[in-house]
Amino acid sequence: MNDVPVLGTRFADELPEMAVSWKSAPVAEPRLLVLNEPLAAELGLDPEWLRSDAGLRFLTGNELPDQAKPVAQAYAGHQFGGYSPRLGDGRALLLGEIGGRDLHLKGSGRTPFARGGDGLAAVGPMLREYVISEAMHALGIPTTRSLAVIGTGKSIVRENLAPGAILVRVAASHLRVGSFQFARATGDDGLLRRLTEHAITRHHPSAADAAGLYRAVVAAQAGLIARWMLTGFVHGVMNTDNMTISGETIDYGPCAFMEVFDPATVFSSIDEGGRYAYGNQPNIAQWNLARLAEALLPLFDDDQERAIAVATEALSEFRGKYAAATLDGFRAKLGLTGSEIDEVGLTSLSEDLLALLKAERTDFTSFFRRLADGTDVGDAFGDWVKRWRALDPDIDAMNHVNPLYIPRNHLVEEALAAGTDGDLEPLHRLLDAITSPFTARPGLDRFAEPAPPDFGNYKTFCGT
Ligand code: AMP
Ligand code: MG
Ligand code: MG
Repeated sequence: MNDVPVLGTRFADELPEMAVSWKSAPVAEPRLLVLNEPLAAELGLDPEWLRSDAGLRFLTGNELPDQAKPVAQAYAGHQFGGYSPRLGDGRALLLGEIGGRDLHLKGSGRTPFARGGDGLAAVGPMLREYVISEAMHALGIPTTRSLAVIGTGKSIVRENLAPGAILVRVAASHLRVGSFQFARATGDDGLLRRLTEHAITRHHPSAADAAGLYRAVVAAQAGLIARWMLTGFVHGVMNTDNMTISGETIDYGPCAFMEVFDPATVFSSIDEGGRYAYGNQPNIAQWNLARLAEALLPLFDDDQERAIAVATEALSEFRGKYAAATLDGFRAKLGLTGSEIDEVGLTSLSEDLLALLKAERTDFTSFFRRLADGTDVGDAFGDWVKRWRALDPDIDAMNHVNPLYIPRNHLVEEALAAGTDGDLEPLHRLLDAITSPFTARPGLDRFAEPAPPDFGNYKTFCGT
């Protein structure tokens, strides 16, 4: 029934210096592995049509409306602290906008930014992005979304051969800190100004100027990182090209959810120094935001000293905003939104709890549900539980903010392995659990429990 939807072209039109016209590689035999019907409906796309041959040609970028201007986006970025002036979409493509949101492909073939890469993606990692991003959304954490994963029917070369896939991603935009670094490095202040206007219009319309935009990004990221920390999410590769201007989580490569509470938690096989460890995420976010300030500096003030003062002041707001969002989050997690406890009391209550969780090597997610259910959480917590109970917590409210079902690492691996072999049942079961994470349902106990001890130390990998 659907006509091919019109695709907005704002990025290609307004920022041509950062957009290379490009097409996705032809996919001879696309096979739909998973489709996000609620998201399709949100975008005004008919799921029936998306499943059809014409729909799949659209979703793979192989047949777009004539007016579309698909582009590979240019950006720069600091990767593990080292600056790369030219990263860009090496295996991705911005098809255009639907309802003001980006429709974007990952794994759609080499582009001029591919460097040594093959431009492709494997089924497993694309299903991983689908699962984790949809879990984040269901948890109420700002994130890019996943509309579909489509098997290409071709094998690609990884550690072994792996089936290829394309992820269809939806995002408020794909503007990153690295986009601003790229624009700044061209030395063209006109481009930097246009990029700033574009970002203000799309994401932070109440910002009056570049400094206002910057403050809005600082606030959005402080809130976002607090949400990550409150759910035990470890992004794993917080390079400046993987931090959005919109405040959405982006780039689900080596990410994973922490089980045992430990600030030193690292999953990524290449993060040997622990730069992107769970407990270091607020520091890194602030570091990345400092890089954004450097990029925007010429727009803050003509006088460099005054520009630096603007940047420093705005960046200094990160800590306070992050701390406030974290404290609000703990108040909710502990069911104390209606309680008299003041900030000092709540800070010490939550810090004491985190110290206990760490010492006892406790599963972070299930602890808060067990606490609410009145399950014995162990002798070590005895005094702390007494203190907490005396505050008359709202148990029902706790169960609406503390998830029961998160994408547990062993279950994610199980679903991806089966999906890679062509069996999508485990993936669908996992999706059923994690897309409604707060409501206990019969038959889902497995999804609420940590990995068995023999699962061992979990390792994840980038860019596969
Ligand atoms: P990431 O670590 O996922 O943020 O990716 C960093 C950069 O590597 C981006 O510029 C990607 O487009 C590029 N990249 C990652 N994998 C590939 C690939 N298989 N082919 C081409 N470019 C890639
Ligand atoms: Mg990336
Ligand atoms: Mg990536």
